[in-house]
Amino acid sequence: MNPAAFHGRLFGAGVSEAGAAAHAWWEGSRLAVQAGDAIHHADGASLQVEAAGFNLRQLKLSWNGADGSYNFFVEAEEDFSRLLSGAPESMKEAFAGAQSRRRSMGRRFSAAVAVYGAVISLPLLLLLAFLLNIGHLVDWVAEKIPVHYEDRIGDLVLAQTRAQMKLIDSGPAYEAVQAIGKRLTAGSAYRYRWFIADRKDINAFAAPGGVIVVHAGLIAQTAQAEELAGVLAHEVAHVEQRHSLKNLMKTAGLSVLLSLVLGDWSGTALGNAAGKLTELKFSRDAETDADREGLRRLVDAGIAPHPMADFFSKLSSKESGMMPSMLATHPASAEREERLRSMIAALPAKQYAPLPFNWAEIKTSLNLPTARRQSLLAD
Ligand SMILES: [Zn+2]
Repeated sequence: MNPAAFHGRLFGAGVSEAGAAAHAWWEGSRLAVQAGDAIHHADGASLQVEAAGFNLRQLKLSWNGADGSYNFFVEAEEDFSRLLSGAPESMKEAFAGAQSRRRSMGRRFSAAVAVYGAVISLPLLLLLAFLLNIGHLVDWVAEKIPVHYEDRIGDLVLAQTRAQMKLIDSGPAYEAVQAIGKRLTAGSAYRYRWFIADRKDINAFAAPGGVIVVHAGLIAQTAQAEELAGVLAHEVAHVEQRHSLKNLMKTAGLSVLLSLVLGDWSGTALGNAAGKLTELKFSRDAETDADREGLRRLVDAGIAPHPMADFFSKLSSKESGMMPSMLATHPASAEREERLRSMIAALPAKQYAPLPFNWAEIKTSLNLPTARRQSLLAD
C-alpha cells in the first residue's frame, strides 16, 4: 500500500450504512479513496473539510461523486499528518481551520465523553447500551451533545418535515410567529427556525436544535396572539430542556446513537427517526417541565400567561369534529390544566402589554377552511 496513504471510514453511495474501512491518498490535487476493491476519486476543488464525529475528534472530507455524496472520516493523529502533508496547497488553509476547530472542541470535551466516543469500540458500546438502562444512557449522552450537533439534527428534521408537509415561511402569520418566537428565545444558545405547516389539524412540535413547527389549524383555534405564544413557549421549553433530542434518540435507539458517534450525518437512521417526530410523545414529567419552563419564558418576555392555560383548556374540551393531533402528543388533562393554572396563580402580579397584532386579520391571512367557516357563521 502507498506509504503516504491515510486511513479512515467511508460513507456514501454503494457503501454499507455503517460505513466501510478505507484508505486514501493524494494524486496531485485529487483525493483517491479505496474501500474494498472500489476506488473513489474526489476533485480537490469539490472537497469540503470540517471537524466532525461525536466529540469532534475526526476530520470529515465530503464531496459529491457521480453516483451520490460521500463522507470520509479520518480519526487517528498519524493519519491526520499524512492527510495534511500531502494536501494540495489550495486546501491547506481549509485543513488548518478544521484541524484547529477539532482541537479546540476536543479540549472542551470532558475526558469521559472522549473515552465514550473514541476509545470504547462500537461493539462494546452496543453491548453497554443493552446492559445499561438505555433511557438513562440516552439522557446522559444527550446532555453532552454540543448545541452545534443538535443544530445539524434540526436541519435533518427540517428536510424530512419539508418532504412531509408544506411549510409556510412568509406572510403576516409567519411574521407574527417569528416575532413572538424571538421574544421567547432571547439569549438562547439555539438557532431557532420557525415554520407554519399548511395543515388543518391542531398541532405543534419541536425538533432538536430549535426547529419549531406550528400547524395553521392550531393558529386558527387561538382567540388571541397570547394563546399562540403559550404554545410556542411550551415548545421552546422542549428544545431548551433537550426533550426533543432525547426523544428522538430513544425512538431511533441505537442506530441514531451510532450515527452520532460515527459522525454519519447523512445517516438514514436519523432521517427515518426524524420523520416520526410529529408522533413522538413526551413523558408526563417532561410535559410538566415544559409547561413550567414555558410559563417562565412567557413571563420573562412580558407576555400575559393566562391565555396559555385558556388554550390548553380549549383543547381538552374541544367538540369539533377535528381530532386535535396535539392531544395525541400533549395529553390535555384536567389535571394538567389545573396545575398550569396554579402555577400562574403563584406568579407575582404583573401588568402585561397586549401583543401588537391584529389577530383576526392574521388568522384570515392563513385562509383556512375553519377560519372561512367561522366568518360565514358570523355573517
Ligand atoms: Zn409538550
